[in-house]
Amino acid sequence: MKPAPVTLNDRQKERLRELPAVDHVLDLAKADPAFELIPASVLVGAARSVIAEARGRILNEAGPDPEADLTDAAILARVKEGVRRAMQPNLRRVVNATGVVIHTNLGRSLLAAEAVEHLLAVAGRYSNLEYDLQAGRRGSRYAAVRNLLCEITGAEDAMVVNNNAGAVLISLETLARGRKVIVSRGDLVEIGGSFRIPDVMTKSGALLKEVGTTNRTHLRDYEEAIDAETALLLKVHWSNYSIIGFTAQVPLKELVALGARHGLPVMEDLGSGTFVDFSRYGLLKEPTVQASVASGADVVTFSGDKLLGGPQAGIIVGRRSMVESIRKNPINRALRIDKLTLAALEGTLRLYRDEARAVRAIPTLRMLSEPEEAIAARAAELAERLAALADSRLTIEAARLPSKAGGGSLPLLELPSRCLKLRITGLSANALELALRRNDPPIIGRIEDEAFVVDLRTVQEEEPAVIAAALASLLSTT
Ligand SMILES: *Cc1c(COP(=O)(O)O)cnc(C)c1O
Repeated sequence: MKPAPVTLNDRQKERLRELPAVDHVLDLAKADPAFELIPASVLVGAARSVIAEARGRILNEAGPDPEADLTDAAILARVKEGVRRAMQPNLRRVVNATGVVIHTNLGRSLLAAEAVEHLLAVAGRYSNLEYDLQAGRRGSRYAAVRNLLCEITGAEDAMVVNNNAGAVLISLETLARGRKVIVSRGDLVEIGGSFRIPDVMTKSGALLKEVGTTNRTHLRDYEEAIDAETALLLKVHWSNYSIIGFTAQVPLKELVALGARHGLPVMEDLGSGTFVDFSRYGLLKEPTVQASVASGADVVTFSGDKLLGGPQAGIIVGRRSMVESIRKNPINRALRIDKLTLAALEGTLRLYRDEARAVRAIPTLRMLSEPEEAIAARAAELAERLAALADSRLTIEAARLPSKAGGGSLPLLELPSRCLKLRITGLSANALELALRRNDPPIIGRIEDEAFVVDLRTVQEEEPAVIAAALASLLSTT
């Protein structure tokens, strides 16, 4: 359909004539020292978009403000704001006020200070990434973490790739390409971000053999499906959902025993993967990597940046012969972990040698296990700082709402947390959310009951001050 012809009234025609030309705006900017260090491309881009936006407003296409100020000063102020935004890096630190600890959209896990330190020590220097300092010749990229991973998990061998999706892909490709992999129907999960077990299976060239039903799968289901074409028995951790009620699944140990009787390897995709038994910290039990290794799984894969609390990585541990052949797979070159990730991973793994230290130092673990009183103290600090703004338009309501682990882990876990519900008279919750999202640094929270909810579980120690400053600045301009 053709757009209807635009008929302009006299006022609109007059206003369009008042619009400055790009060159005029650039001349104004040249005379203003604030633009001295701004690259020409950024300045021109900002000038064009400010003029285009003003035109849109006059034509009533972009917002209800046809009488927007078109004076030089007003245009220049808007160009300044556009330039400021364009000069900011795109990838920026944000304040996570959502209470979702492993938030995939917000970067999943924060690195421990020790991991950041190790990363910085390596990033701007040459390193022994693939150089054996003892022997004085080429070494293995995985040496940095291999022994640590074996030490922590009890596995014979270990390697790492870019992420767990890659770990699953390369493991299946190596162990079962062109042959059958037996999986329970209950294990055919979708993790989000388009990772689905059946699709990864197809991409790996392995043939999916589904057995059992969604809610119940028995050992005999696996056993009856085994034939000469079978290469592997696969178990997948449900991660982000749960089946309750009339259910049955086969414990890993029994699957391993079945595999042994038929000479078949067993692989487990643990998804989140944790080294820490969370039930010891009053949380729900998640299967640990150590338990999977001890049950005799030949290959176990898991993420570096979910419950482990490290950088994005896919970790593969298991029997030496299996890990060795996965390592030698040419696809490994395409999934290769980079040195910055490796440094951050080593820095994280070293902390696990002392579990109590790991739980204190690794932000993901600290946030998940933080006692409610400690969160309440942060909520009180923020409430105090906001009260000190002494603005009667701002109302602060304390609330006890649950946080989530996120990252496709512990789906049923509701962590009791402390929140503040913020409202500003004369400002909708949506407008408040938008203003805080546009703050520098952006503050990301959720709207509930027409209020902006700040969950203090994921707000870091120094961030109540950041949130208070954002509200102070918002109130001063509203
Ligand atoms: C998260 C997850 C993956 C994908 O891991 P990434 O590190 O995000 O690539 C694969 N399998 C399971 C079961 C998961 O939970």
